[in-house]
Amino acid sequence: MIIALKQGTGGEEAERFASAMEKRGLTVHVSRGETQTVLGLVGDTSSLDPEAIAAHHLVAKVMRVQEPYKRANRLFHPEDTRIDVAAPGGVHGIGGGRLGIIAGPCSVESGEQISAVAAAVKAAGAGFLRGGAFKPRTSPYSFQGMGCEGIDMLCAAKKETGLPLVSELMEIHQLEVFDNVDIIQVGARNMQNFNLLKELGRCGKPVLLKRGLASTVTELLMAAEYIMAGGNEKVILCERGIRTFETFSRNTLDISAVPYLKQKTHLPVIVDPSHATGIAGLVPAAAKAAVAAGADGLIIEVHNDPENALSDGEQSLTPEAFSDLMKTLKKYADLEGKTVS
Ligand code: PEP
Ligand code: MN
Repeated sequence: MIIALKQGTGGEEAERFASAMEKRGLTVHVSRGETQTVLGLVGDTSSLDPEAIAAHHLVAKVMRVQEPYKRANRLFHPEDTRIDVAAPGGVHGIGGGRLGIIAGPCSVESGEQISAVAAAVKAAGAGFLRGGAFKPRTSPYSFQGMGCEGIDMLCAAKKETGLPLVSELMEIHQLEVFDNVDIIQVGARNMQNFNLLKELGRCGKPVLLKRGLASTVTELLMAAEYIMAGGNEKVILCERGIRTFETFSRNTLDISAVPYLKQKTHLPVIVDPSHATGIAGLVPAAAKAAVAAGADGLIIEVHNDPENALSDGEQSLTPEAFSDLMKTLKKYADLEGKTVS
């Protein structure tokens, strides 16, 4: 961090300011110009708040050189993190050369529905089954999910197929029924629910953290940092489209966020082409683009009867369309030197 002091700051004042910074465990390099003194702070500056420092009466300007996230930062962890999940059907990985494919309906609607979709996505080569039981819906009058019953249905589908489960948790007390859920999804609307993130930092399960509807990638990384700072290093980041002025699609897939995140963090980065586009016909192209951009996985909505789905039918692939897409994705994965998992 670089701190420029106001012109005319006296030598003694500058010294006092510098030694206050040293007391925080940082090394301070002082350069005195003719009119201005500039301090270079070296060390772990992640706990410093640039805005608070800028408010000091001696400070003219504060510039961060290092990112405010530490545990998620590739700088301190150059190799890719791989998150492996062991399920009855074997171990499936996301990141570190594994292209994790998560597929299933937006919502669990019945035992028959989730069983049928689980069997279909497994046959097509998916490594993980998704299904929402607790649903964050824009309207309180829309289907809210089957709750605990939905989790039981997912668990039955896991038994039948051996696929590990991914499901969204909206409140921490729901963790009680997530024993058999392998990856906990934090939805876009909860990306900055800091209390929830802190609690998930204390749980040992991998967390799939979706980017907020209008969040920057740095905010996404800081949200991951909340979970990691609590001791849970197993975080998977998900680009799921952001709000822009464009209206043809539900959201705008920020494809360049994928290589950018891959540069900045060692955590696996996956893409949700279903919520990013909102249109089933656009999902295959967006999925391929994501893999070509370096994504470590995909989360794709698949429904056996999209027209009658209780949520997100318009963006759900049929099992046949998903199976066709998987054939192409395997070729894309080969080109990227990754194994579909
Ligand atoms: C979902 O996965 O069904 C979902 C609600 O996603 P998001 O939080 O990205 O909107
Ligand atoms: Mn959905």
